[in-house]
Amino acid sequence: MSSKASKTIGVLNLQGAVTEHLNMLATIDLVIPITVKKPEQLSQVDGLIIPGGESTAISRLIRQNGLFEPIQEFAKQGKGIFGTCAGLVLCGNETSHSEVEQLGLMDIVVERNGFGRQIASFETMLDIAPIGQQVPAVFIRAPYIARAGKQVTQLAFIDNHCVMAEQDNILVCSFHAELTTDNRIMRYFIEKC
Ligand code: GLN
Repeated sequence: MSSKASKTIGVLNLQGAVTEHLNMLATIDLVIPITVKKPEQLSQVDGLIIPGGESTAISRLIRQNGLFEPIQEFAKQGKGIFGTCAGLVLCGNETSHSEVEQLGLMDIVVERNGFGRQIASFETMLDIAPIGQQVPAVFIRAPYIARAGKQVTQLAFIDNHCVMAEQDNILVCSFHAELTTDNRIMRYFIEKC
């Protein structure tokens, strides 16, 4: 594939902020955005976004739609996966909330709703070394990464809590970049796909 080839990027369409990701993908050249609801659709995409929403609901729907093992297989093939907010919770391999069945794609321990109810939602700017400075980030009942394994690169922090990380083909962030007009994080993900 030449670097000019287009890439098809899927957004897992079970629950949560699906449209916002599709809209942001539409702002990037040579990207074909599609929604993914069934396992067979994974063969059509170069990368998959697991959006924010309710990680309990999304994990149940992943099982009901027969997507649990197919998503794990997709990740093992080295295809890009981007988990945002609830999607980050799902990519992890440990959390204190046992009602969420995690996909275990990344060696991280997740503190679900880590920022607590008092500051449930806020917006801030982050400096993210491989991406750039002053990247806007919207946090909505966001998780954080409490512990990360050696293969994980931690990319951004708030109050010493890790809010963005990557491990090979898997990228996760605690916040919603798709609710802003800044598509730098999305472009970074697409390069991984
Ligand atoms: N707190 C939610 C959960 O863990 C995530 C919130 C979000 O995705 N904005 O399911």
